[in-house]
Amino acid sequence: MKPESPLARIPVEKVAEADFPSRFGHFRICGFRLLDEAAPEVAVVLVKGEPLPGKIPLVRIHSQCLTGDVFGSFRCDCREQLEMALTQIGASEYGFLIYEQQEGRGIGLLNKLRAYALQDQGMDTVEANRELGYEADLRHYSLAAGILQYYQVGALRLLSNNPEKLRALEAAGISVPERIPIAANPQPGTARYLKTKREKMGHWFPDPEIKQKKDRKKNDPETAPLPRFAES
Ligand SMILES: [Zn+2]
Repeated sequence: MKPESPLARIPVEKVAEADFPSRFGHFRICGFRLLDEAAPEVAVVLVKGEPLPGKIPLVRIHSQCLTGDVFGSFRCDCREQLEMALTQIGASEYGFLIYEQQEGRGIGLLNKLRAYALQDQGMDTVEANRELGYEADLRHYSLAAGILQYYQVGALRLLSNNPEKLRALEAAGISVPERIPIAANPQPGTARYLKTKREKMGHWFPDPEIKQKKDRKKNDPETAPLPRFAES
């Protein structure tokens, strides 16, 4: 579907909104759900600034990762990416952090732990998911796209390395004129995981030397080079 074609609105409902001061800045916090009986889905959205049609926000779509976001796991880079995104969105004039409940790329928390056990036996993250009977990545981004439609966002700056997220937004008629890297520092435990994301899942991913230079300029999207780093 081309972005300029007439597009159906993705049905979402805002179920709550409240004030949300945080260490990353002052947001509104909102709860949304996808109005789809067959695929119930919820997301929490942090909104920075005043939503106005025509304004271009900085957006991060983050999938819940209990082990990374809460426990600080070194098996993935989720928490570091989340904190980097919140820092940048919190400092921006207008932005959204969309936090989706899609633990373990959609396979669920307990299956993610099963996949970890298989990885401990030598499988990579994609092989482990397949061993459990799942595709490598079950996530889809209808709810995120619907939320952005709700706020009448027609174009945005996306904090992401994941080509699937760009494709999903553009399919929903939302243009992404600018993609900004989200470059977490590799930890000893994440190197293999990041390699799998790059080689098997098509995520953009610079080599470490490029990233070092990019880190110094990360607040300047004009100078941040492609390709981008990995994410889950
Ligand atoms: Zn994670």
